[in-house]
Amino acid sequence: MVWDVSRRLYEEACQVIPGGVNSPVRSGRAVGMTPLFIREARGSRIVDEDGNEYIDYVASWGPLILGHAHPGVVEAVRTAAGKGTSYGIPTELELRMARMVVEMVPSIEMVRMVNSGTEATMSAVRLARGVTGRGKVVKFNGCYHGHVDSLLVKSGSGVATLGIPGSPGIPHEVARDTVSIRYNDLGAVREVMDAMGGEVAAIIVEPVAANMGVVLPREGFLAGLRELCTQHGALLIFDEVITGFRLAEGGAQQVYGVMPDLTCLGKIIGGGLPVGAYGGKREIMARMAPSGDVYQAGTLSGNPLAMSAGLATLQVLKEEGIHEQLESRAAYLAMGMAQAADAAGVKVFQTRVGSIGCAFFTDRVVQDFETAQSSDTRAYAAFFQEMLKRGVYLAPSQFEAFFISAAHSQDDLDRTIEAAKSALGRVKQLEAM
Ligand SMILES: *Cc1c(COP(=O)(O)O)cnc(C)c1O
Repeated sequence: MVWDVSRRLYEEACQVIPGGVNSPVRSGRAVGMTPLFIREARGSRIVDEDGNEYIDYVASWGPLILGHAHPGVVEAVRTAAGKGTSYGIPTELELRMARMVVEMVPSIEMVRMVNSGTEATMSAVRLARGVTGRGKVVKFNGCYHGHVDSLLVKSGSGVATLGIPGSPGIPHEVARDTVSIRYNDLGAVREVMDAMGGEVAAIIVEPVAANMGVVLPREGFLAGLRELCTQHGALLIFDEVITGFRLAEGGAQQVYGVMPDLTCLGKIIGGGLPVGAYGGKREIMARMAPSGDVYQAGTLSGNPLAMSAGLATLQVLKEEGIHEQLESRAAYLAMGMAQAADAAGVKVFQTRVGSIGCAFFTDRVVQDFETAQSSDTRAYAAFFQEMLKRGVYLAPSQFEAFFISAAHSQDDLDRTIEAAKSALGRVKQLEAM
């Protein structure tokens, strides 16, 4: 397999784009590679500029639950584009989208569309501060909520991958109002809330943490957060940018039966176009301008192109009952990977819920960012490279999820497991060297 064209494009891109990429997670640095440049994609497959084809488990980092270039989504976008891409004036599509979200997500009664997950979390935090009149926000180590100043503290995803401690450019005054706690440590949350609950506007959490690899909430963790928020008059914000519409129609809140005050959505809701949304109880959401006094706006928010792609995706999810199929395929893949690791004698801790999961290269039980960091990232890098050579594209970081889409066929999964068997064998050999 040669990557000559990708390498040349990368070198040229580095001259005009910082690090050659428009989002740091795309850099191959953590796995000792330069990034692939992709020419096209269809279904479960991506094709790079050198003509190599891969089974793709990144799926644009989550949005493409139906796979690449799903015919229904492509058709919806094409039709919408022909009628104008944005008006800055309301459309019926926005109403249909809002109704769809209210119908699907149990805790949402009103919703506002924005253009990214980052905008959704930023706006939800502002709303929580506006409603409570308080300043502090509690988050969890290794959770990623976009690159919002106040939430980029002990953050997951690219920040974890590249080992960046927060970021320069975030004022102390802003970071000081953020308290970050070990994920799954309800006792520590209770201590913080007992000490300063009266100053806390919100607790924001990924109900399944999917930006430090995939870490599942312990039994009672989410319900405990719900209880503490209610007790101290703080809002509970679920960041369901990854889990929304993915774990179930109604996201993680449906699966775990815990209702937040506000929910942040993104990724799948845009069907591959840039979209985010936040929603929740009517009396809270009504505080947003123009019905209320908390301000947030967007030139392209709710534009017909993005709404069409999102609606087409959500419609398929609702009508075709795809989640059961995703669950069984993902379970099959995870089992195959675990067997491959066993056979190769490589220690791996597997996590999975629905169609997201992670194989941590560690012999410890991973339940928070601290244990996730016990992973052997060099072994993961070797695994990534060996899989790539065998035509499988995994996330170029140990601290990211794998995403299965409805386009992954049984044959794709079998090929992936076969590739993993030989790749893990090679990883074991390299470890011994
Ligand atoms: C991706 C992600 C975000 C940020 O969304 P963008 O569209 O990249 O701004 C926020 N929260 C979570 C949980 C995410 O996975």
